[in-house]
Amino acid sequence: MRPTGKLHLGNYVGALKNWVYLQSRHDCFFMIADWHALTTDYENTRHLADNTREVLLDWLAAGLDPAKCTMFVQSHVLQHSELHVLLSMITPLGELERVPSYKDQQQNLASKDLTSYGFLGYPLLQAADILVYRANWVPVGEDQVAHVELTRTIARRFNSFFPKGGVSATFAGPYGGDPRSLTDKVLIEPKELLTSTPKLLGTDGRKMSKSYGNSILLSEESDSLEHNIRNSKTDRPTLTQPGNPDRCPVGNLHQIFSDPETFPGRLDEITVGCTTATITCVQCKSLAIESVETKLRPIREKRRRFAEDPKFLLEVIRKGAQTAAKTAETTMKDVRSAIGLLPKASIKSLSHNAGDNFLLRVPASISRTHGDEQRWEIRSNLWLEKVQQYSLTKLKDKPRVFITRKNKKVGIYDAAESSSGEWVFGLKDQPLNVLVLLAQDRQRNLHDYVLPQAFLQEHWKQFERTDNTVEIHLRKIDDVASLLLKDQTLPIQQYEGDYSALQ
Ligand code: SF4
Repeated sequence: MRPTGKLHLGNYVGALKNWVYLQSRHDCFFMIADWHALTTDYENTRHLADNTREVLLDWLAAGLDPAKCTMFVQSHVLQHSELHVLLSMITPLGELERVPSYKDQQQNLASKDLTSYGFLGYPLLQAADILVYRANWVPVGEDQVAHVELTRTIARRFNSFFPKGGVSATFAGPYGGDPRSLTDKVLIEPKELLTSTPKLLGTDGRKMSKSYGNSILLSEESDSLEHNIRNSKTDRPTLTQPGNPDRCPVGNLHQIFSDPETFPGRLDEITVGCTTATITCVQCKSLAIESVETKLRPIREKRRRFAEDPKFLLEVIRKGAQTAAKTAETTMKDVRSAIGLLPKASIKSLSHNAGDNFLLRVPASISRTHGDEQRWEIRSNLWLEKVQQYSLTKLKDKPRVFITRKNKKVGIYDAAESSSGEWVFGLKDQPLNVLVLLAQDRQRNLHDYVLPQAFLQEHWKQFERTDNTVEIHLRKIDDVASLLLKDQTLPIQQYEGDYSALQ
């Protein structure tokens, strides 16, 4: 969903209500598509962050539950952009130009400059959004079916160019070469999960849309809700003429909100009354106000409570991004490998021993028989052997600090996992450009987290300090490594084995 501000009843009825239903039945990922908002509104980003928050509030108020689904902000999961770039290499321009909404929107939004690549490429970004999670289903309405079809085409093309396990040496390139026989596919072709959504008319009788100024918000206060419905267009020009509730915005509201359990017989009463002119539109509107208000009141109250708890909101999107990135990264590892990209410089890729499962193993005898200082020497030397191509030079007076060829100071500190499942690194408080944490787990594997300069500049002050020592606490929760800072928990998973900071 694009963050264009508070959601209206059309968004609720057309998508959100169904998502709330789906979250208990599937492993769902729901995304606030802030990059997509830029494809048509790059000139005005002032309200983008606020709008993102408003959408999240509406989602939570309507019943999306972070315990049941993953909610995240698109720009927080960079794997979307990476897959988008890679897919753009194999997508013919004409395929994007032929997407029906490309021409339609250019005509409908003539006041905006839609000649950018971002706008042309948005269906491709949308495809990346779906494919990066290897989604089986995409809940869409009829108007979005073409986009899911395009996503399937793109996935199929990727799988045929880049089968799982890498490309063959004879491969002639995306636009040539013989089709290969595929045994395994990197990307999954998704299917549309068609939702039969009742149409919801805006107060002027056209489709409900913010740009028409005819919408009723999901968070609409009682008085403005009443005002909007009272002023809605109806299908009866005079009191004595019968009307058709299917063509009337108010009749439409009854069909959706006057549910038989809460208001038994009301819908029939309205239908008969309207088509025989035995009820007035004023009476009909009063009943509609009651039906809609009954549904919206608890949503509005829930929204107010969530709005008062910004910490909770941040936690929802932080955790959501973390879960989403973990899933997306699994796909991207296969994508990169299938294309044949050189992995980032890391212990993993520098290791010549393919059998060591990409991890350094500290021999059991060392763990048992050596003192703390010796263990440090062995662990760090073991590590240095693997990264010697960076020509690190050890500083004589500071045994755990090294200098790179480009004169960057690299501090290398190690720790073994404590019985409480935590690693504590004790650093002498000194300015460093790069910090390497070597964490030995209980299986004696050595995990390496290389924290780059920008990271340290931002967070150095938040580490715990005692006398002249900086204490860094690292913990793994659900396989995600995080630093425990004074006032926050900071995931550092992405820095494991990433040696780009030493280059
Ligand atoms: Fe619309 Fe109700 Fe009037 Fe019929 S009676 S036209 S449904 S407002």
